Amino acid sequence: MNHLPKSVRVPIEPDNPSIMRDESLCIKCGQCKNICTDYIGVHDTYELEDTNNRAVCINCGQCANVCPVSSITEKYEYQDVRNAIADPDKIVIFNTSPSVRIALGEEFDLSGGSFVQGKMIALLRKLGGDYVLDTNFAADLTIMEEASELIERVTKKTAPLPQFTSCCPSWVKYAETYHPDILAHISSSKSPIGMQGPTVKTYFAKKMGLDPAKIVNVAVTPCTAKKFEIRRGEMNAASKYLDIEDMRDMDYVITTRELAKWAKEENIDFASLKDSDYDSFMGEASGAGVIFGNTGGVMEAALRTAHQFITGNPAPADFYNLKSVRGMESVKEAEVTIGPLKLKAVVIFGTKAATEFIRKWRSSGQTYHFIEVMTCPGGCIGGGGQPKGTLLKGD
Ligand code: SF4
Repeated sequence: MNHLPKSVRVPIEPDNPSIMRDESLCIKCGQCKNICTDYIGVHDTYELEDTNNRAVCINCGQCANVCPVSSITEKYEYQDVRNAIADPDKIVIFNTSPSVRIALGEEFDLSGGSFVQGKMIALLRKLGGDYVLDTNFAADLTIMEEASELIERVTKKTAPLPQFTSCCPSWVKYAETYHPDILAHISSSKSPIGMQGPTVKTYFAKKMGLDPAKIVNVAVTPCTAKKFEIRRGEMNAASKYLDIEDMRDMDYVITTRELAKWAKEENIDFASLKDSDYDSFMGEASGAGVIFGNTGGVMEAALRTAHQFITGNPAPADFYNLKSVRGMESVKEAEVTIGPLKLKAVVIFGTKAATEFIRKWRSSGQTYHFIEVMTCPGGCIGGGGQPKGTLLKGD
């Protein structure tokens, strides 16, 4: 058995914010261990005696996604959101991630991959949300930041290359745990949800005349790790900016599966809901945010934006649906030319594959500029909070 490398320094939190377990339901099928060992690369890398008897967990929820009897599930928060809706003093704002609208229909027996954005928004309004916004707004902000940072690293050598993406909280926690020597390579940009939270509590609240202290910000995501991310110490930018104590940027995260469970408990007939639209202010985004949900999407969006910034011209047609960075291989390499620059990019999904790549890169000395790492199979579309089986279908 491999022991946890000496670099491990993030303690698993006493109360895991992402994952719950009911041992009495477990049928000992071993699927949770298998995916955590073979794909995530965490289970079996350490002995409990080395970690104070605490399991190392990167909160990705893949164990919950493969558990056939729901012995392992995401930690439910929808009851807290329901309580907030019932409180007349609270303003509940839902923010939806790109992959939810593609997968939610499966929970209601619509065919896999049905685009149910309009019904999803109608459902969130029916459940009592005061506003429904698109997190793709903040995905655009993330892309502008990541592309700008990449250009600075390449042209002004402000930080080491390659630049790794930072929008997957499981990957960031995995890197903090297993590869602390690459933290200077990880982009300083917050994830889309990390940017959406404070933007809603500052900019949106000001424009709409809302009291930020009354806002209950809810992210609706494919991701169980976002439950961990919103509780990180860094995620209280609005609190500092507005000088309001004890205010998190994003208050709750509910997964695609949780949203469906809540709707079923309320006996809502999802298929017959009439389409609704996002609120218009902060409800619009470019197409770049939408592709965040798929492996290679962050990379493609950042390279298009970098092209615009460097050359002053929109990216050419071959930067759209970049074949070299799409698809279901866990590691893909591409070379792109932007003006005078030739950039080497890598797209990875799966943290075990990321470790294998990092070892290879370190020993070969190869030069790379930009590396996207997402934890879940195929990216967020295969997230731990998606309908079970989405992972197996890939994109
Ligand atoms: Fe969450 Fe996406 Fe990362 Fe999976 S790949 S842990 S869904 S951010």
